[in-house]
Amino acid sequence: MITMTGTRKTRATDGSLLSPQRCRAIFSRLRAANPAPKSDLNYSTPFELLTAVMLSAHTTDKSVNGATARLFPAANTPAQIAALGVEGVKPYLKTIGLYNAKAANLVALCRQLVQLHGAEVPRDREALEALPGVGRKTANVVLNIAFGHETIAVDTHIFRVGNRTGLAPGKTPAKVEQVLNAVTPREFRRHAHHWLLLHGRYVCQARMPRCPECVIRDLCDHEPKTPAKQARPARVTVTARRGPGAR
Ligand code: SF4
Repeated sequence: MITMTGTRKTRATDGSLLSPQRCRAIFSRLRAANPAPKSDLNYSTPFELLTAVMLSAHTTDKSVNGATARLFPAANTPAQIAALGVEGVKPYLKTIGLYNAKAANLVALCRQLVQLHGAEVPRDREALEALPGVGRKTANVVLNIAFGHETIAVDTHIFRVGNRTGLAPGKTPAKVEQVLNAVTPREFRRHAHHWLLLHGRYVCQARMPRCPECVIRDLCDHEPKTPAKQARPARVTVTARRGPGAR
């Protein structure tokens, strides 16, 4: 059932609380604001991307970029990082969270890439998720960005946006991913991950969503919206930050 405003009174079979028209409108607006979204992580090859995404768990993209800016000039292939060994990799990662475990995973991952995949990043989910330190989210990001798959990786930002807006409610990332896959129109699937991630990171923030400047505020189910007098002015908006092209 759909109300006058397009909000479903009961959860539809696709799992969203919003009507299909509203779901489409959300993606249309996010695309208009940021037609060509890109990752905040710096990388130049699928392997560098895989490394950066793996390192980004529980830490910021900025700190990962700082670490990879030191690591990649010294070693940016599976063979080179495997040759460094865990103790050789650690100094490059010391500024990011959980660097001991990440260094061990990265070296183990590189050894597997060399031994099992000809030092190439595999293009299928099963092989990616079998690598040390690589879970579903990381695999989804790599499949989407490096290989053009229409995957939606649900991180903390997308989980929040999906639940808060009513677009894709779910108690687990897997459920939110399932709903997003069901409600995202085909034309938006390639970049849905980036649009939702950037929206959560820069606008629909955890503590105080920036509702007054939000391009989907009239489509979002969250109430109450942050009033203008409480909203912090955006230091940088997604559109301004990324220019015409903006992860
Ligand atoms: S209106 Fe507010 S709660 Fe809704 S998506 Fe925008 S920032 Fe988030």
